[in-house]
Amino acid sequence: MSHSEHHIERNSLAYSIEKSVEVTAQKCYQCGKCSAGCPVADEMDLPPSMVLRLLQTEDLANDEKVLRSHSIWLCVTCEMCLSRCPMEIDIPSMMDFLRQKSRSEKKVNPKAKNIIAFHKSFLNSIRFTGRLYELGLILDYKRQSLNMTQDISLAPKMISRGKLHLFPGMIKGKAQMARIFKKTSK
Ligand code: SF4
Ligand code: SF4
Repeated sequence: MSHSEHHIERNSLAYSIEKSVEVTAQKCYQCGKCSAGCPVADEMDLPPSMVLRLLQTEDLANDEKVLRSHSIWLCVTCEMCLSRCPMEIDIPSMMDFLRQKSRSEKKVNPKAKNIIAFHKSFLNSIRFTGRLYELGLILDYKRQSLNMTQDISLAPKMISRGKLHLFPGMIKGKAQMARIFKKTSK
């Protein structure tokens, strides 16, 4: 929390973010590590570091770009960015807030329609713990949101490339994970 340090404009998206999820966009110094580590950055219209850059401008047109972006819906909350950020900027929480805001202001990117259907049916109903949940999310996301038009094997490839780690918390849920794999690869 650092409202006083940054003199953030009260009508800016950066201000709402700081107020709601205590993420200070101004702390980002654009090193790019978040985008470099993000497993879905290649598919994003605005990689995470760019979202932060736009927010830093506190320009309403840029705020609009962020809220209307496809990226905020592509983020799978894997926390890779957060683990790499030297400033510990909680991008996943920020993305979550941006999705809510985008919905409430009816600015959802048209390409995100299927993702939202998925968020409703999957994210809200199934709450696994830790990264196990995230892995299932990526697989189901690929299956449901892209209607099989994109490479369904993206998640397993990310794992093999080391971009998506199986964290210790996941090991407990191996059987559950196997079931998710089975279910989603049908
Ligand atoms: S890793 Fe952190 S400091 Fe670097 S660009 Fe991303 S958010 Fe900014
Ligand atoms: S939490 Fe979202 S933005 Fe961060 S690395 Fe994962 S997918 Fe990318």
